[in-house]
Amino acid sequence: MTFMIVASPCAVVLATMPPLLSAIANAGRHGVLVKSAVVMERLGQVDAVALDKTGTLTEGSPRVNDVRPLPGPGLDESELLTLAAAAERPSEHPLARAIVAAAHERGLDLPDAEDFASAPGVGVTAVVGGRTVAVGAPARLLDDAVGTVAELEESGRTAVLVVVDGTPAGLLGVADRLRPDAAATVAALTTLTGTAPALLTGDNPRAAAHLAAEAGIDDVRAGLLPQDKLAAVQEMAAAGRKVLVVGDGVNDAPALAAAHTGVAMGRAGSDLALETADAVIVRDELAAVPATVALSRRARRLVVQNLVIAGVFIAGLVVWDLAGDLPLPLGVAGHEGSTVLVGLNGLRLLRETAWQRAAAEGSG
Ligand code: ADP
Ligand code: MG
Repeated sequence: MTFMIVASPCAVVLATMPPLLSAIANAGRHGVLVKSAVVMERLGQVDAVALDKTGTLTEGSPRVNDVRPLPGPGLDESELLTLAAAAERPSEHPLARAIVAAAHERGLDLPDAEDFASAPGVGVTAVVGGRTVAVGAPARLLDDAVGTVAELEESGRTAVLVVVDGTPAGLLGVADRLRPDAAATVAALTTLTGTAPALLTGDNPRAAAHLAAEAGIDDVRAGLLPQDKLAAVQEMAAAGRKVLVVGDGVNDAPALAAAHTGVAMGRAGSDLALETADAVIVRDELAAVPATVALSRRARRLVVQNLVIAGVFIAGLVVWDLAGDLPLPLGVAGHEGSTVLVGLNGLRLLRETAWQRAAAEGSG
């Protein structure tokens, strides 16, 4: 009877779930939704990071600060912005929201768009008042580069080209700010994973390089379509890395799905990214990413610690019972005591200080 009680592995069973679930609850209180205990465990394993630019490293609330009609169709600024905003209205992309907001700010009336289609990482097309409007990355919509594009991009802006009925009609310069915690996050992720994060973006190389330098990233891969981002992540995985992908857009969804762990920026993130990711940062804090990785590592350490405690108790009680004469009440007390002990040990991760320590660890 005593043997059967002390040899039953209750403490082993209780060793893993309390730390992982406590970590999930704690992360949730700090605006990080981790979708399962498996994800909480995997987060701590990552050893390489790929970050998206627009909406992830940057605030994702860019502003239009240049509206430049091109001579072709002879539109004025308001007409150009009206057509672009009407075409962009159904889009979830941060640039699309900026363009629509700029039109509203100028009090422009937006007609309805028909036949809306969006190509992730490229742009959108729609029919507005009988005219076909395409809005998106200049390089892909227009082969012969316009001087203005280079000028806008050199100042760190994203140039968005508006094409009306097949003719380039104008350029919009959109400026996006780096998140205040971007540089600190890049540094923290470098320390945690031992390798510097890479920047994967669909934006042009000039604007990307400008921003990457500010954030402290050297490895910049620009002009990527969604499938290129996926290929980049798969390549890192093939080299034996466990890649953490952080993104926000529809264009990041394939990479998020292929990653060892995918994290989406939730406030401005697209539904597809939120759906595909393993975890979602609900508050707009990029610094929560390294903090959650650090918290996951603490949880993993507690799991190991718990397994050791459980193993030592069980082995000790079994040996005592076989070798000597372990009284039944003592066997029960030892068995239940060790089970409660590992349970409580795991629950330590519920405390506020556990997150604070992880956040401190995750800030370098
Ligand atoms: P990132 O990878 O940095 O998040 P995206 O892949 O979403 O950037 O976009 C890459 C580029 O494609 C943008 O810089 C922009 O030029 C163009 N683009 C994508 N979607 C849109 C859109 N809805 N409107 C205008 N341009 C767009
Ligand atoms: Mg993005």
